[in-house]
Amino acid sequence: MLDLDTPDSNYSLEEMDRNSLFHPLTSISQHMANGPQIMGKAKGVRLTDHKGKPILDCSGGLWCVNVGYGRPEIAEAAKQAILDLNYWHLFGSASNEATIRLSDRILGLFHDHAGADHLARVFYGTSGSDANDTNFKLVRYYANLRGTPEKKKIISRMGAYHGLTMAAAQLTGIPSYHKAWSLPDGEVFYTDCPHYYRFAAAGESEAAFCDRLIADLEALIAREGANTIGAFIAEPIMGTGGVLIPPAGYFERVQAVLDRHDILLIADEVITGFGRTGAWFATGLYTLKPDIVTLAKGLTSAYFPMSASVISERMWKVFEAGSAEFGPVMHGFTYSGHPVGAAIAMANLDIMEREGLVANSADTGAYLLAGLRERLAEHPYVGEVRGEGLMIGVEFTADRATRRPFQAGDAVHRLVASKAQENGLMVRALPFIEVVSFSPALSITKADCDEAIDLFAGTMADVTSQLAAKAGT
Ligand code: PMP
Repeated sequence: MLDLDTPDSNYSLEEMDRNSLFHPLTSISQHMANGPQIMGKAKGVRLTDHKGKPILDCSGGLWCVNVGYGRPEIAEAAKQAILDLNYWHLFGSASNEATIRLSDRILGLFHDHAGADHLARVFYGTSGSDANDTNFKLVRYYANLRGTPEKKKIISRMGAYHGLTMAAAQLTGIPSYHKAWSLPDGEVFYTDCPHYYRFAAAGESEAAFCDRLIADLEALIAREGANTIGAFIAEPIMGTGGVLIPPAGYFERVQAVLDRHDILLIADEVITGFGRTGAWFATGLYTLKPDIVTLAKGLTSAYFPMSASVISERMWKVFEAGSAEFGPVMHGFTYSGHPVGAAIAMANLDIMEREGLVANSADTGAYLLAGLRERLAEHPYVGEVRGEGLMIGVEFTADRATRRPFQAGDAVHRLVASKAQENGLMVRALPFIEVVSFSPALSITKADCDEAIDLFAGTMADVTSQLAAKAGT
């Protein structure tokens, strides 16, 4: 355990952090005032911070540690892979066994568990963001090779999160990620957010809400011209946006619109992939027919930074036919298809299969969801508790009758998450609407869930009077 209080340490880790580290997605002023929260160790679903405080991790890191922390099998696989071939690349037909086997396995999982036998090839990156940058470029590449170079715009959705590199940030439909960054404009357009609880009009049925979403999409396509739109990108269940589950029938109808206008579907399964929703892939859960699937996080359970873009046969056919004008595929990264990452992904998938973690996600997720719903049913500021598998969100409201949101500056979700952490439970406050999310390792047990439910219900009781003051009730 790291010890900050050793007598000879006159320069603490906290100070060192403040003086040397530029934290992503952090308020610099708050960081300088409050300092870092340094994690020490982790095993299974249990974290221990550097001062020895135990925390039950219901965040799974950033929705990514699907098999849980500290798996010796993965450490062994990584060690062996490093000793065998710590690096090789994929450029110019170079290859390696682990990455070949992983690609075949990913396609097999989609075929067997998601009915997606139209998926044909896997391209690798290192993060969800760079995979979506790749996808952004593949849409353009496809348009150019097909001889429809004007068909390049991409439709995303309000509330979407697709990463923060230059192109991925444009796909992200959450205003706070755009505000200070002067992102390029004019290539990405945003259709309505499919979140019934918050965005339905008073008295509007879910079916009528869904009609309105589809009408908005159609109107956007008509306005821009279908001949200029290459793709539509969607998280099957929006994660960072607030664990937003689409209304019944939404994706079938979206798919029909896209098919009619010859628009590709990119399913961003960075969170939903690899069992998070209780299905292997949400592509199967919603019977989607994506032309590109984005994968990251659960692919390696965050034991290695690795992402993938899985592409369809129809895109592959166009790429394969190639073009004399454009020559070889001039896109790829030093670490595309890293052999150590691939070996880690294989070991991770072995654990998921051996321990039946996808089924556990469905079963334990339903248990956690039901428990949270029951314990929070009477809480005056809990609006909706929703989820699929182990992807669960609790949305707050200042008034349950009218569903009035809290004021943006109230940050009730951040207050709840930080109180929970103080109480020994890690959940995350999300940035779009007032939601905290639960996304623990898929290996979590029902006993762990009972503990999480108790800790969360206790936390909500602790903050009720503060929420009342913010709600003005
Ligand atoms: N897509 C989705 C759906 C995500 O949730 C995330 C990250 N939370 C990303 C893309 C970006 O991934 P990364 O942070 O690895 O770049």
